[in-house]
Amino acid sequence: MSIVSPRSHCPACGTVLKASELVPLVSYAALRGRCGTCRERIPLRDPLVEALCGALWAFLFLRYGFSFSFFCDAVFFSILLAVFFIDVEWLRIPNPLVLCAMLPAAAAFGRHALASPLLRLRGGYQSAHPLAPLLGLIPGAALFLLIYLCALLIYRNNRVIGMGDIKLMIPVGLRLGLWQCLLAVFLAVSLGALTGIVLILAGKKKRRDPIQFGPFIVIGAFAAPLLPIWTFA
Ligand SMILES: [Zn+2]
Repeated sequence: MSIVSPRSHCPACGTVLKASELVPLVSYAALRGRCGTCRERIPLRDPLVEALCGALWAFLFLRYGFSFSFFCDAVFFSILLAVFFIDVEWLRIPNPLVLCAMLPAAAAFGRHALASPLLRLRGGYQSAHPLAPLLGLIPGAALFLLIYLCALLIYRNNRVIGMGDIKLMIPVGLRLGLWQCLLAVFLAVSLGALTGIVLILAGKKKRRDPIQFGPFIVIGAFAAPLLPIWTFA
């Protein structure tokens, strides 16, 4: 669904929201969680996303101040947040979102490539080489593509990993670089497998049912830059 046109509206009755109904969290509380026109319940997901996005931007502002890095990461991780909730609900990762995530990831890469070697080391890619961010494509996008092709060859199907997950790993890999991306993939695979086992044991899924992998990639991408294990690199 476009976020530009039609403007923000109630999905139940289609009424376009008034300015006073567009204030994050406040409007939800003022309307007591229901549409102002048709009184249809607004999903709890909406204020949850607003709260998470606000917390994310506040965290990044405290970390970077009002800077290039702040703007890049704020846009990048907000898009990942959208990917998380859309994949959980719809079992798909929309291409336009992946393309939008490419913009801040490519901007951060471009800035790293053009910076002086000393600034590059401070940039968080664990390498002063101008092309270092490209290495982030190896443990994610390239590895997943390899698994995808192997599955096609061996099992004659592509149900092992989704194309959306492979595409998502391109901006994630560029943003995180080699080591953080490796950690993000490790976290995503571990959490995904664990969740799969729990769901099967709980009888919510059968052994052959697909489970969304995108949300675990998002969790990995959020967690990897925060874990302080990079001093060795
Ligand atoms: Zn309505």
